[in-house]
Amino acid sequence: METKIKPITPETLAEAKNLIFAGDVVAIPTETVYGLGGNAFDDEGVKRIFEVKGRPADNPLIAHVHSGYDLLKIIDYDPPYARKLREVFLPGPLTLVYPSTGKVSRFVSCGLNTLAVRVPAHEGAQAFLRTMDIPIVAPSANLSKHVSPTSAQHVYEDFSGKIPLILDGGSSVGGIESTVCDVTGDVPVILRPGLITKEQIAAVVGACEEYAPQLVEGEKVKSPGVLYKHYSPRCKTLLFNTAEEGLKAYRLMKETRVAVLCEDFVAGQFVKAGAVVLNLGRTEQEMAARLYGLLRDAEKICDVLIAVEPNKKDGVMTGVLNRLRKACTSVDVKH
Ligand code: AMP
Ligand code: MG
Repeated sequence: METKIKPITPETLAEAKNLIFAGDVVAIPTETVYGLGGNAFDDEGVKRIFEVKGRPADNPLIAHVHSGYDLLKIIDYDPPYARKLREVFLPGPLTLVYPSTGKVSRFVSCGLNTLAVRVPAHEGAQAFLRTMDIPIVAPSANLSKHVSPTSAQHVYEDFSGKIPLILDGGSSVGGIESTVCDVTGDVPVILRPGLITKEQIAAVVGACEEYAPQLVEGEKVKSPGVLYKHYSPRCKTLLFNTAEEGLKAYRLMKETRVAVLCEDFVAGQFVKAGAVVLNLGRTEQEMAARLYGLLRDAEKICDVLIAVEPNKKDGVMTGVLNRLRKACTSVDVKH
């Protein structure tokens, strides 16, 4: 199968619609990462997504809808505080998990009685969703466990020959996946950190909790995706807490193709030591936007990646560090 990359036009949207309604999948841009879209009402379309990605069958999918879509077609209960969150943050990188009506394919939520719904801000994504006018399930458009894609080219690297169409909407400006927040209880609970922070949500609705999965035998996990190793480049990746530890490791490395991933504030030390540096930048938004592209660069240019944790740990960095830690093997340096 030939995989075409095309810009978003009325013609390519019509082509995408034919594919989606025939049970096929189409890659689409969003402001977070690129997604692999399929018809949420169609068992075959949803199963195709799991098959193409190699995604574990118990990791549920997020349904994407346009801003004008009537949520009550797919969700059973809409607590007043969820409406507040939508007013402030949507369209945008916040996914809300509601009680489901069960109208979408049973394969979407993998046996959970909830449904995760997102309204992306990206103009191209909105145009696509308006054209479809149905919920589109769209996990990140990467092979399972590989680094998420932030450009059409990244999607092509993983799915060339496997999907018919990639709609090109430029580089994703957000860079890490949406915040996933459960709104089925009395207060919102963050299941996956992202660009909308716990502090921002608490400021709007008064409270916000964070879910930390405790694996108790026999108990169902609230958001299975949080357990999987993810986002990994195809090279050895070692994560250090400080630049000092990373530098020490760099000097001891015997491998020839070594690169260093770090924030701009410490990059100079590695450049001085002769290292190839993949620079995350300075602000938390910059670091989120660059992370996945640099992890994909790393696998092309090195056998070992030394990553150094940025200094700031809260706010958007909670999400960035969550992805970085899942991508890398942490090295505990004993003092
Ligand atoms: P991805 O599609 O790769 O961005 O991953 C989607 C994330 O949303 C995973 O972490 C899933 O576990 C989570 N998710 C999707 N649907 C639900 C749901 N109904 N309840 C809880 N988490 C969900
Ligand atoms: Mg993903």
